[in-house]
Amino acid sequence: MKLKIAIQKSGRLHDDSIKLLKECGIDINNGVNKLKTEATNFPLEVFFLRDDDIPQYIEDGVADIGIVGENVVLEKQKQVNIVQKLGFGKCRLSMAVEKSVDYTSVKDLHNKRIATSYPVIVEEFLQRNGIKAEIHEISGSVEIAPGIGLADAICDLVSSGSTLFMNGLKEVETVLKSEAVLAACHNLKPEQQILLDKLLFRIQAVKKAKN
Ligand code: ATP
Ligand code: ZN
Repeated sequence: MKLKIAIQKSGRLHDDSIKLLKECGIDINNGVNKLKTEATNFPLEVFFLRDDDIPQYIEDGVADIGIVGENVVLEKQKQVNIVQKLGFGKCRLSMAVEKSVDYTSVKDLHNKRIATSYPVIVEEFLQRNGIKAEIHEISGSVEIAPGIGLADAICDLVSSGSTLFMNGLKEVETVLKSEAVLAACHNLKPEQQILLDKLLFRIQAVKKAKN
């Protein structure tokens, strides 16, 4: 019996995900350009996937666990358990408007067009604040939307804020704070749960050593 873990194939979470496994004493064959690989000293199979697909794979039980941004877990609305925050991939999902815009409160978003790759999370935020606005879902380069007249505001992932700044935007609301999490399938077999607990024990030891 092996535990199957999904991690990002390439991108912001890839290196830190591999590093975390290494720090847990798990050696994996280097999986560049491969779909999957195996740990040599732990019953772990590693799948390399696009981050957007990871929650679905976990819900379906194709992967037992996975490392993915909390933002993606919330947006995809799949049935998975968030079992551990991992302390990397920290970012926030923020509303931004053009620098010249007079913005005083969330009410200023009323009747505006908001471009985002996170329509579910944004809709929930708007509802929670009693705002009616039009959401334009776009999959990338969200930060150029105001400049080309596609939207009045955007909601996008931010870490330093430099991308917003370079595009003449200013951050006006934090919608969600996010970091990478370990997510798990709802119905793990008892043997898999034991392996997950072993892995979690090591992850927590690694985290403790860093504090
Ligand atoms: P994929 O090809 O796997 O779909 P992607 O382009 O959607 O990759 P990345 O940009 O690699 O995703 O980001 C992966 C995750 O890293 C995000 O979902 C988020 O949780 C986290 N993250 C941390 N900082 C940032 C940032 N400044 N911008 C975007 N994502 C960030
Ligand atoms: Zn993605």
